[in-house]
Amino acid sequence: RAKSEGKATYQFFEPKLDEEARLRRQTELDLRRALHEGGFELHFQPLYSLVEDRLKGFEALVRWNHPERGLVNPVDFIPLAEETGLIIPLGEWILREACWQASQWPEELSVAINISPKQFASGNLAQTILQALSHSGLAPGRLELEITESIFIANVEKTLSTLHGLRDLGVRIALDDFGTGYSSLSYLRSFPFDKVKIDRSFVQDLTTEGNAHAVIRAITTLADALGMETLAEGVEDAGQLEVLRREGCRYIQGFLYSHPLNVSEVGILIDSNGMQRVTRPA
Ligand code: C2E
Ligand code: MG
Ligand code: MG
Ligand code: MG
Repeated sequence: RAKSEGKATYQFFEPKLDEEARLRRQTELDLRRALHEGGFELHFQPLYSLVEDRLKGFEALVRWNHPERGLVNPVDFIPLAEETGLIIPLGEWILREACWQASQWPEELSVAINISPKQFASGNLAQTILQALSHSGLAPGRLELEITESIFIANVEKTLSTLHGLRDLGVRIALDDFGTGYSSLSYLRSFPFDKVKIDRSFVQDLTTEGNAHAVIRAITTLADALGMETLAEGVEDAGQLEVLRREGCRYIQGFLYSHPLNVSEVGILIDSNGMQRVTRPA
């Protein structure tokens, strides 16, 4: 469309594009520097078991501790890290750090780590995971990898063989943001995921929309039949919790139970749950 409006249009937009490109390059440089200077930190959001009525583990969520901008959320830098390939070294750091932190927790607690599509396809993910496990001493069964449906877009055969390879390490695999993808049901059938994380959008609708209950019920029924656990993301109020409980959802995560916590807050929560903490020399 810009073309038919003539050359003037291009001239009008060019300075803005330049400015955007400059900003992206600057952010990329900042990210590189942060990687070398320890500028990232992990926060951990509690995962709660409705069936056992107890804290089950935590999901690791990365933050960028930016010198001027403060704590930056992943939506504002993960996409650029993906595009520039920086997600590979950043993802390695996240895996090492999250496994290390989890190795300090009571043994009944697990850790879930988000794996981005590029990291998943990189070819050395299994190696990185093995190193993180052996360095921390964390039992593989306490580590859950969260992947999204987008990993299937590339090459289904290759994706499935990578998934089976990871599973062979003894780690668990969760399908994150379930229901937002292009062909959610077919992906669910293609691999025996340990857990399905029902996307926040379905949970949000629970209070306002009558048919949202039916969607939750359909997902939990299907997951049960396939031998997969279900977790509902983004649970914010007691009304949503009530429905999720009734529809047989096993785990919840969300602001109702807890926001993501920094490392010292994690320690306090564990202590207040009366769980035995493990301390290892760093
Ligand atoms: P996600 O994996 O679906 O993570 C859940 C996100 O929902 C987190 O946002 C969490 O803070 C937010 N959340 C949790 N409970 C509630 C709630 O009750 N209400 C609302 N409104 N939000 C809630 P966060 O930390 O900003 O992360 C956003 C996304 O960034 C994550 O979505 C994940 O896709 C990605 N991400 C986060 N950490 C990492 C990481 O270490 N590696 C990679 N590759 N991606 C990450
Ligand atoms: Mg996740
Ligand atoms: Mg999620
Ligand atoms: Mg989500």
